[in-house]
Amino acid sequence: MKLSFDVGLGADGQKDKVYDVIVIGSGPAGFSAGLYASRAHLDTLILTGQTLGGQMSLTNEVDNYPGFPDGLTGPELVAHMQAHAERFGAVVQIDTVKAADLDQRPFRLTGDYDEYRARALIIATGASPRLLKVPGEVEYTGRGVSYCGTCDGWFFKDKDVIVVGGGDSAMEEGIFLTRYARRVTVVHRRDELRAGPALAKLALGHDKIDFIWNAVVTEIVGDGNVQAVRLKDTQTGEEWQRETDGVFIFIGHIPNTWLFKGQLEIDRGGYLVVDERLRTGVEGVWAAGEVADSIFRQAITSAGMGAAAAIQAQRWLDEHAEEEPLAGTTQEETLKLGG
Ligand code: NAP
Repeated sequence: MKLSFDVGLGADGQKDKVYDVIVIGSGPAGFSAGLYASRAHLDTLILTGQTLGGQMSLTNEVDNYPGFPDGLTGPELVAHMQAHAERFGAVVQIDTVKAADLDQRPFRLTGDYDEYRARALIIATGASPRLLKVPGEVEYTGRGVSYCGTCDGWFFKDKDVIVVGGGDSAMEEGIFLTRYARRVTVVHRRDELRAGPALAKLALGHDKIDFIWNAVVTEIVGDGNVQAVRLKDTQTGEEWQRETDGVFIFIGHIPNTWLFKGQLEIDRGGYLVVDERLRTGVEGVWAAGEVADSIFRQAITSAGMGAAAAIQAQRWLDEHAEEEPLAGTTQEETLKLGG
């Protein structure tokens, strides 16, 4: 049963359409939410954002997503996820949401190209790695510069890598990288780690990890691929160059939450606050994936959250069918359908 309500020009050419569910974001959380929602016969729209696939599309090779034992590229996994959601009827629209009004019912979203309305909303806008903003960083991303040890560590078998940052992510990823790299050198701008004691102890005691304290990377140097970093001592101002095969940058993430400032609760780290059922503070709005997850931040965990959010949305729409009829149904029709 696919029910639609079309009186205007929406994503698939219908005016003033009200979707049952709109998913904002096209990473693993977004596509997984779109798959589960559309497979539950909900009229579902996925708004992709600027980068189809999100951070996944920047990943060279994905070796840790269950079901793909030979690995695949990030863009290939994104394409599979998109095709899977579309197979069940989800509409994928290339548009970036610029404003979200969660006070109105249905919720109203304004994109670059169009306006959209939905009874339920799943926010899967992800997070963007914080950039060092030094020369060479953008140029060598994917060619020695990485923001994900779990994704790209395998390419650095028996190589020397630099890890930038002193937080839990830098320690955790640095420790993970020792599985592959010959040597991991952590460059931290202070002489004390921000990471919690457990991870700090493991990293400090690790025989494949060494530390350069009170130093920042000022440039990433290469010739097609990364070859070295320029370093500067934050105390003395001394500068020097250090050879390396890779630079892994873990200086924090910026969850993409600005759309919801003042409307949804955001924690001190910038993440959307959700309960154990991924509910935000506004009824009918869930959040999934890295926008609401400061801990796991893996494609598979985000996909799991997306599925969970869609299951919640479907139950909520069913429970509220009388007040919130499914798209295209009158209240009378909804009652006949047993909603
Ligand atoms: P974070 O805690 O904010 O740490 C970022 C690190 O990068 C800090 O050491 C910071 O230095 C450094 N940094 C920031 N900007 C920099 C710049 N421009 N140049 C050089 N260094 C810079 O971020 P995170 O490690 O991604 O962790 C985020 C949250 O997730 C935290 O709450 C963390 O506890 C949590 N997390 C937990 C786990 C776990 O428990 N297993 C794993 C990962 C993350 P300063 O220290 O000088 O500020």
